[in-house]
Amino acid sequence: MKKTLLLPIDSQRPEMEKILVAAGFIKRGGLVAFPTETVYGLGVDALNPRAVRSVFEAKKRPFDNPPIVHVGQVKDVFALVRRVPSQAEVLMKSFWPGPLTLIFERSKIVPDVTVAGLNTVAIRMPRHNVALALIRESGCCIAAPSANLAGRPSPTSARHVLDDLYGRIDAVLDAGSTSIGVESTVLDMTVDPPQVLRPGGTPYEALKKLLGAVELHPVAVAEKELAVNEVRSPGMKHRHYAPDCDLIVVEGETSDVIGKVKQLTELYMKKGSKVGVLVTDETMGYYRADVVKSLGSRRDLAVIAKNLFRLLREFDLEEVDIVIAEGVPAEGLGLAVMNRLRKASEYKIVKTIRS
Ligand code: AMP
Ligand code: MG
Repeated sequence: MKKTLLLPIDSQRPEMEKILVAAGFIKRGGLVAFPTETVYGLGVDALNPRAVRSVFEAKKRPFDNPPIVHVGQVKDVFALVRRVPSQAEVLMKSFWPGPLTLIFERSKIVPDVTVAGLNTVAIRMPRHNVALALIRESGCCIAAPSANLAGRPSPTSARHVLDDLYGRIDAVLDAGSTSIGVESTVLDMTVDPPQVLRPGGTPYEALKKLLGAVELHPVAVAEKELAVNEVRSPGMKHRHYAPDCDLIVVEGETSDVIGKVKQLTELYMKKGSKVGVLVTDETMGYYRADVVKSLGSRRDLAVIAKNLFRLLREFDLEEVDIVIAEGVPAEGLGLAVMNRLRKASEYKIVKTIRS
């Protein structure tokens, strides 16, 4: 087991001595967890195959699911890809740094392990001073999946990183909670029109406004499990974002959802289960369960996104057997929230129907 070094750091003006310690690990092929605006990432030198292999091992992540390569400036993209489509240039100008990952055809300098043998590579520029300083001082692009054990909810604080990875990584830069709380939007630029493979911190509506034509892959909506031949992004295949306990999502008109969540709660409590409900400020007062947690107001989907993964982890700490979650509107950041909830539930989705 390694000793994992915890490095508290200022999120706006990161202290250079801490960045240099972390960058030293990256240069030597080590693993450093760092904050981004979305979730904490687990970084390694993207062009060092041995280091990239160790990131999969630390996370217990399947080798067929590649990480995102994080760059410090737009011009770093050109060496990593075969070509930059003109629409990608427009997107990078408008949305970088920010929570938008673009899929390009990859160049030969990118090692096979970094892209899981695919002929494409996922790239983004994070909007966080600590992440950008770490990339700059490491002198390389940083491959980073989320800094959690595979399958668990992504980490939105250094505490979550340590809970999953203490002793398995070299260091964590701790700059407090992340501001967006769900991962980046993944947009495939190798198809026409571009296709959203994973909804995330950049809303679909914003991409549509800029590009005109852009599609949502069915898995981005995640209303049901996909057949293997429909899988376009490796991450689509794996169970994700999930707490250890069971999870059911209830979707429909809010007043119907309240009734259904109550009914399911009573059913499971009668069976002797410890039941958690994951609901919203407006509806919280309606429920009696073992643990009641609110994601925030239904009127602010950005706050709901920010709280989602932390609350899923809290249910595990309270050792509930099952969580009944209210669905939220699948618009703006709500689309990413619903994608994560539906996948975490393994598609145990209850839809209320108006008679
Ligand atoms: P994470 O690093 O945990 O945020 O996950 C990265 C996401 O990007 C996963 O869902 C991957 O499947 C996806 N991804 C990475 N590289 C590619 C690629 N070349 N093509 C499609 N999806 C990718
Ligand atoms: Mg992840």
